[in-house]
Amino acid sequence: MEQLNDRYSRQTLFQHIGEERQKILMNSSAVVIGCGALGTVSSSYLTRAGIGQIRIIDRDFIEESNLQRQILFDENDISENLPKAIAAQRKLQKINTNIKIEGIVSDINYSNIDELTKDVDIIIDGTDNFETRFLINDYCVKNSVPWIYGACIGSRGLVMNIIPSETPCLRCVFETMPQIGSFPTCDTAGVIGPIAGIIASIQVTEAIKILTKDYVSVNKKLLEIDVWDTKFKQIDISELKEVNNCPTCKLHNYKFLEAEDGIMTTFLCGKSAVQVMSRNAGNIDLEQLEHRLVPITDVSRNAFMLKFKIKNHEFTVFPDGRAIITGTADSSTARNLYSKYLGM
Ligand SMILES: [Zn+2]
Repeated sequence: MEQLNDRYSRQTLFQHIGEERQKILMNSSAVVIGCGALGTVSSSYLTRAGIGQIRIIDRDFIEESNLQRQILFDENDISENLPKAIAAQRKLQKINTNIKIEGIVSDINYSNIDELTKDVDIIIDGTDNFETRFLINDYCVKNSVPWIYGACIGSRGLVMNIIPSETPCLRCVFETMPQIGSFPTCDTAGVIGPIAGIIASIQVTEAIKILTKDYVSVNKKLLEIDVWDTKFKQIDISELKEVNNCPTCKLHNYKFLEAEDGIMTTFLCGKSAVQVMSRNAGNIDLEQLEHRLVPITDVSRNAFMLKFKIKNHEFTVFPDGRAIITGTADSSTARNLYSKYLGM
């Protein structure tokens, strides 16, 4: 218990935490889904606060344009072609060796969310898209797991606690998925680092309150912040739970958890790229794939991914059967390229 006296001393001195609640944190588990601007900050504070088990799930690798706001990454990670989840795990473990940190390179979807979030105490949103957030929302409402929505764009951010059966859920608030293109994206509106830092910091504060069961202090409102205009707005959403016939928490229709077959494609905001995943592909042997591709193009490979370029398309292939294909925003073009060069 040496770390209780020293490592966490400033936190246990804080009147709302103390040693008993610190022990609760050390026996708690959190999953951070998405390790970008929000996830790098939230996983960092969760690690430093001593949350006993932290799992970080991210599907992507690190690019130069990430460094402006994704505070766990550096230029070396890019030259090593490291996936975000792996780079994050390595850095965070150096900060705190007393806790368990797991980086998982995967795209969370209906087929693996059960396994990846099993028995977790809380889920922190670090995603950049509504499809995944509604999946998390369905899962959490169905399984009574609290989660914390967070989003930011430009200088503006939103944050909200979802405690199933206590607070409105994400669909109570957003009802239907915003049409792609109707919302500004990081690609069109940009984003500044500090708003992500603020939103993620609030997410971790709320997580600590929820994990230590300080429900009186837990924020029940939707908080909107514009850090450029220096505006903070608390939006009362308590009535939404009563007035809306929410498909998730009223009707228990968990459509985002339902299975589909075949190939799944996702447009990746900010990249002009499409992620293709074949459910039938299983694990890809990257070494074998390299042998097949070497005669036609240059290939680079490490334990986590294989990259190659054909004309203006860059392919990044992961062992779990996924490929990210740049140079297109069109899902059928991406599917064709996937089957042509990966042969599935
Ligand atoms: Zn709802």
